Amino acid sequence: MSVFSLSLRSGSSGNSTYIRTESARIAVDCGLNGKQFALALRSVGEDVADVDALLLTHEHIDHCSGIGVVMRRHGIPLYTTMSTFENARKILGNIDEALVRIIEPGKAFTIRDTVVLPFSIPHDASDPVGFRISSIGGDIGVATDLGHFSSEVGDSLAGCRVVYLEANFDPEMLESGSYPRFLKNRIAGSHGHLSNFDAGDAAAQLLHTGTEAFALSHLSRDNNRPGLALKTVSERLLREGARAGRDYVINASPRYECSRAFRRHIILENV
Ligand SMILES: [Zn+2]
Ligand SMILES: [Zn+2]
Repeated sequence: MSVFSLSLRSGSSGNSTYIRTESARIAVDCGLNGKQFALALRSVGEDVADVDALLLTHEHIDHCSGIGVVMRRHGIPLYTTMSTFENARKILGNIDEALVRIIEPGKAFTIRDTVVLPFSIPHDASDPVGFRISSIGGDIGVATDLGHFSSEVGDSLAGCRVVYLEANFDPEMLESGSYPRFLKNRIAGSHGHLSNFDAGDAAAQLLHTGTEAFALSHLSRDNNRPGLALKTVSERLLREGARAGRDYVINASPRYECSRAFRRHIILENV
């Protein structure tokens, strides 16, 4: 199978990242409805009925609103921590619990021949995780909804070739914006979301471990702009002597459409 990954949707109105490895078809989160999910996959030549696994990062609705319907329609197994499952149960609705596979942070599991490592992330949910998905063409990491880039997250993503990394907000835009104080504090807090500057520091750290492609993800509609996120992170990486297009690839995952796939990048690295 050809190996590629892309963001199907990204942001507080719905998240899903699709990863096709040599042996497995995996969706991390499904915060869009069943029809949108199937159409998004079809737009990249994939059939939703062929998806091997749904991985759930945490129970917030922008990550799990479509999980129940996709499970019911297509009988796809769900991989989730017990606490996330219990907290998402109402949103998932009536599902076949035989399809639920309970996972634990730090304990790798396999989907077909693909090894997946869930790891704890600091976020205000019951037991949130990010994922590292192994691939011969280079591992792929997904870490959004991060209050801060903890050492555990950094260690878990080290050496990933592609990382879907949160760049949620620009601190000035958040501070001067119209959100109520409690919400500003929640977003900027250590268990909220990652700012563009924190994403830049995280990307710099990852760059030195071998990461070559960054997908800035979960951008706020009100407190960020794709161009600003890209500029902030690229400028930070320039301080490490790394230039976009020469030393690494970077894009910002769109809110309402599919991103470009990291495909050529990985294939190039294989030859
Ligand atoms: Zn979210
Ligand atoms: Zn969240």
